[in-house]
Amino acid sequence: MTLRGRLTTAFLVVVLGPVLLGSIFVALTVAMVTRDRVTERLDHAATTVRTGVGAICRQLQAVADAIAVVPGSDRQAVADQMRARGLASDIRIGPTDAGWQDCAHPGTGAADAIAATATSGNLTVTAARQVDADFLGRLTAASGARITRTGRPTPESRELSAGPGQPLRLTLTVRKGDPAFLYAVLPALVLGAALASVAVARWLARTTTRPLGDLAWAADRVAGGELDTRVPIQRPDELGRVAATFNRMTRELQAYVQALTASRDQLRGHLAILGETLSSTHDVHRILPVILRTAQAATGARAGVVLLIDPAGDRLVARCGVGLTGDWDVPDDELTEKSVVIGEGVLGTVAATGEPRRGQGRVGDAEPPCRTYLAVPINAPITADEPGEPNAGPVPLGVLALYDRVGGDAFDDGDLHTLRTFAGQAGVAVHNVRVHEEAQRLSLTDPLTGLWNYRYLRESLRREVERAGRFGRMLAVLVLDLDHFKDVNDTYGHVAGDAVLAEFARRIRLGLREVDFAFRHGGEEFVVLLPETDAYGGAIVAERLGAAIRDRPVSIEGAQIPISVSIGVAVFPEHGDTAQRVLRAADEALYAAKKAGRDTFRPAATSANRPVIKSAVSRNEIDGNFDRQTAVVSGPRPPRRSRGR
Ligand code: GH3
Ligand code: MG
Ligand code: MG
Repeated sequence: MTLRGRLTTAFLVVVLGPVLLGSIFVALTVAMVTRDRVTERLDHAATTVRTGVGAICRQLQAVADAIAVVPGSDRQAVADQMRARGLASDIRIGPTDAGWQDCAHPGTGAADAIAATATSGNLTVTAARQVDADFLGRLTAASGARITRTGRPTPESRELSAGPGQPLRLTLTVRKGDPAFLYAVLPALVLGAALASVAVARWLARTTTRPLGDLAWAADRVAGGELDTRVPIQRPDELGRVAATFNRMTRELQAYVQALTASRDQLRGHLAILGETLSSTHDVHRILPVILRTAQAATGARAGVVLLIDPAGDRLVARCGVGLTGDWDVPDDELTEKSVVIGEGVLGTVAATGEPRRGQGRVGDAEPPCRTYLAVPINAPITADEPGEPNAGPVPLGVLALYDRVGGDAFDDGDLHTLRTFAGQAGVAVHNVRVHEEAQRLSLTDPLTGLWNYRYLRESLRREVERAGRFGRMLAVLVLDLDHFKDVNDTYGHVAGDAVLAEFARRIRLGLREVDFAFRHGGEEFVVLLPETDAYGGAIVAERLGAAIRDRPVSIEGAQIPISVSIGVAVFPEHGDTAQRVLRAADEALYAAKKAGRDTFRPAATSANRPVIKSAVSRNEIDGNFDRQTAVVSGPRPPRRSRGR
């Protein structure tokens, strides 16, 4: 049964029930009153009939008595006179008529007249009154009830028995006084009321349930995703308030969903940028800000910062930030001046323990100011352990922290989970970058000496030559080859030879500026690039390196191994205008040094085969050794020997 049907039924029960009960009560009351009135009217009619018939009997008795005392001669005349005056309908002097009912001694039989008898001596006089229609009509008129001699007993009639003073058996019948009108009108009224009730009930039920129907319809549409649905407010009653509340709820839901959708789209955008960044670059400076911004968008934080553990391993150094305030509100490149000691404060504790922290309130002066914070460790991804090596646990790389969740609430478990995910991304990215950098470094360095390898020499020489050419600068190229190194191997063994090579490389490094490059060219041959250096500067460095080897024998397992090196010096663009040519010039100068007896250096000849250190000589700043060497260079070139390259 629908709600409308139930409401209609309830209304009908409430309204029609009392109407029906009232109607029954009224009907019963009317019936009782009617019965009482019939009884009353019959009582009244019976009294009237007795009184009337008794009066007639007494009148007949007076007539009979009067005639009985009249002398015999006048008796008949007086009787006629009385009959004529209507005092009796019949007067008989002599024996009485058998069909007459004596008033004083009523019989049981039917009689067509009532009579009274008087006797005087032998004389009997009887005065009678015919009981005819006229007689009964008069009684009917006087009593108000229909008077008949016979009749069937009904609730509206009464049998009046004969007795002294009223010798007739009569039936009194009163009109029922039936409230036919009432009985006809009452059901009609009840029916009318019932029909009206049904109509009113249906109207009430419809007006009550229509807003509910509207609400159900709207709720259905909202459930189907149409959040712009609104319910019409019919009346300002309770249902109207429910509709208004529903509309407000839907409006807020719509706004909430719109905000969620916008934030989801924003997050999608950030994730797309993150994915693109992670797949396209190994630059931590680009990756970390993207991860930080994505984490910030995903959690709704106001600010955030990424800090990485410095190479020394005792401090966290800020690498990028977003939305930071106070002292920390600086560009990312200045942010690297901000650092936190590991083990101190919130950030330092997270880095030290590897456990995330979240909370409210101040975090100390050394950290970004905030109301709420959430900080998680950035760990290197756990890789499969080497067989036999114990699991050392996660390797900490840094800390990712977010501050002041928008809305003022503290960060919850969901935010922690989200931030851990992004910290994992950051960990993978930083780890990958470091692995990449290490691989890059390994692929470009010589494992024995730690110097750059031949591959990197080619790249660096090309780059430096191009740079020097573009800015009109010079570049000195030194080629170094250990003297009689074969003998070292032969005398002390290959392992000792390796150690000598490593020591030689170390001394080269120590003898150079930071901007200079040293390469192991192959075997026991090395190359040094000296940016912004002319032939004179190159000669000074060559001399210094030669001295660094010559002056101190290399000590290997107690043996003191004397070593010397020959060096060729060439300068771009003086001795060669390309990387290849300048290197070849230096190479040829090296052979000149070898030819000159080793343990010395020689500058390269120009392409015109002239001595090239003219400018340096003119400075008069170099020692006599240099002058001597230049003079040697100007001589004929030694034959080129194979370099095994
Ligand atoms: P010089 O250059 O003075 O003419 O004589 P040298 O004996 O050095 O002659 P050369 O340059 O031809 O010989 C190179 C030797 O260096 C040959 C090889 O035994 C040795 N050598 C090359 N590479 C290595 C290396 O990686 N380790 C060791 N121990 N020896 C090497
Ligand atoms: Mg050699
Ligand atoms: Mg050699």
